[in-house]
Amino acid sequence: MEIAILVMVFLWGGILGSFYNVVGLRIPAGESIVSPPSSCKDCGHRLGLLDLIPILGYVIRRGQCHYCGSRISPIYWFGEWLTGICFLLAYMVFGFVPEFWIAIFIISMLAILSVSDLKYRLLPNKIIFPSMLIILLLRIWHQPLPLWDYLLGFLVGGGVLLLISYGAIWTGRAPMGGGDIKLMSLLGLAFGVQSILLTLFFSAVLASVIGIVLISIGKMDRKSFIPYGPFIAIGGMIAYLYGQDMMSWYMGIISFNS
Ligand SMILES: [Zn+2]
Repeated sequence: MEIAILVMVFLWGGILGSFYNVVGLRIPAGESIVSPPSSCKDCGHRLGLLDLIPILGYVIRRGQCHYCGSRISPIYWFGEWLTGICFLLAYMVFGFVPEFWIAIFIISMLAILSVSDLKYRLLPNKIIFPSMLIILLLRIWHQPLPLWDYLLGFLVGGGVLLLISYGAIWTGRAPMGGGDIKLMSLLGLAFGVQSILLTLFFSAVLASVIGIVLISIGKMDRKSFIPYGPFIAIGGMIAYLYGQDMMSWYMGIISFNS
């Protein structure tokens, strides 16, 4: 029975993930999310039911448009998987408790923002600001930590990136994007202080590692721009779901050695 629930939660994430792809592509462009129906970018053919099946559609069509044969970027398929996996992990960490529904909102928002950042290099205010309001209301509704911890998280998350930005301008380098700063504040409000500090750390490490790998395989050079939003999203999910366990484990090692 448990397996059935796990599969259901994963598929549910995959289905919503496929919708978040559409939202993340259309909202920043100022388009409606319901019409027109999705079509192939190359031949303009309207996509059928089989093309649109989350998780499986991409495999059934072998990564190509069924009508004109042009290659479809696997990034959207990847987004469906990742959303499904994050839903699944959130269920495994929390179970069906109030925090699970908050996690579902956070994952959904991060999925939409990541698509937008990858496609347009933009974390739009019209997604960030309403999300801030919703997170604030959700945290007033349910808070495992004291409310001030979340409010402080809001200040610390954005504040640290703002300081880094000023430091960058001071030394003549490119500052962080305003969207990244707002997103980090938003996650601070959702996570509280300790987890937002871990988010800052994990996202910086992830971005550095991926950057070094991409440079070393020649996919980009030092001057290329990589959108930071998806790193904040993945670093944030690790910190939110597993930060507490990792801290306890780490503290255990320190106290064991001393
Ligand atoms: Zn086509």
